[in-house]
Amino acid sequence: MSTYRPTWVEIDLDAIRHNVASIRELVEPAAMLAVVKADAYGHGVVPVAKAAIDAGAAALGVALVEEGVRLRDAGVDVPILVLSEPAAAGAAEVVARGLTPVVYTDAGIDSLAKAVADAGSAPLGVHLKVDTGMHRVGCSGEDVVRLAERIRDHPELKLDGLCTHFAVADEPDRSYTLAQLDRFAAARAALAAAGIDPPILHAANSAGAISYPEARFHVVRVGIAMYGVHPAPGVGDELDLRPAMALRSRVAHVKRVAAGERVSYGLRYELAQDATIVTLPIGYADGVPRNLGATGAEVLIRGRRVPIAGTVTMDQVLVDVGDLEVEVGDIATLLGTDGDEQVRAEDWATRMGTIGYEIVCGIGPRVPREYIG
Ligand SMILES: *Cc1c(COP(=O)(O)O)cnc(C)c1O
Repeated sequence: MSTYRPTWVEIDLDAIRHNVASIRELVEPAAMLAVVKADAYGHGVVPVAKAAIDAGAAALGVALVEEGVRLRDAGVDVPILVLSEPAAAGAAEVVARGLTPVVYTDAGIDSLAKAVADAGSAPLGVHLKVDTGMHRVGCSGEDVVRLAERIRDHPELKLDGLCTHFAVADEPDRSYTLAQLDRFAAARAALAAAGIDPPILHAANSAGAISYPEARFHVVRVGIAMYGVHPAPGVGDELDLRPAMALRSRVAHVKRVAAGERVSYGLRYELAQDATIVTLPIGYADGVPRNLGATGAEVLIRGRRVPIAGTVTMDQVLVDVGDLEVEVGDIATLLGTDGDEQVRAEDWATRMGTIGYEIVCGIGPRVPREYIG
């Protein structure tokens, strides 16, 4: 479908490749699984997955069975790990598409075994997830051996991996993550005592892979760092991460507004002197937070930082360019680089009291993605 609004997301696939290469170099000899859930954190799943594979990612990770299906439909044939146990309704699709599910319940294991039997296909590799302290998904330490034996007792399944997930690998205090690693080691030891040795171990997300060499095991599951966004301030500084996403729009309307006038909903922004106010055709329906302007956030126009003026509306943003000469059609960069200036997703995140993940995932489907590199 054509789009008539001059607003777009630019995805730099060279940045993805560069980030994947830097992360791989850091974690070697561990392999890298590229996490591309949620439409590759808003970057577009198929092009990003292909670029990550180009750059040496050995496998992909998705949250949903349907995300795996979309990759298979696009011809992607590397292993695809479904990071949480699929609902029974998705088991047949997992088998048909050759996805690798994470499991942690009796019912989940049994439904996958049944789907393999129904399809008459070869044994399906699964990864067992143990909860070592995140308390989101995964079996308890006490259930690890029983569930691994249940997998072993189903000829339709094979236990290809054991995994866990960290809660605070992005925080400076290391004690909780190290305790999670101890519990992961205890789970492995209990399995070993039962004669079970899962071939692939993995635990680390981006922050874990960067900050905990001892957590890299065979594979690291890296999402946010691959997109060039730091998992937390300072985490990954050594990697020269390049942001893959830029968000741009073209000035749609220009007007001069007198000192003392106030602009946008709530009239929360007052002009101290006469200024040129320009309108960009992008708003909170596209993922620009409504209160971003109230934090003093700026956009880039003609290589200059200029403040958002007042409340971001659903479809439009006002910008105070002061006395800068600006014309309809000029490019405004909301995220990304213009000349020597840059705005990163992390900047918006700090202002909004959230994390860069939520910013990039929040750039909505109404904004077309263009790929460069
Ligand atoms: C999303 C996710 C990841 C990736 O986390 P990042 O912090 O983006 O690297 C890794 N593992 C699991 C289980 C996840 O859900």
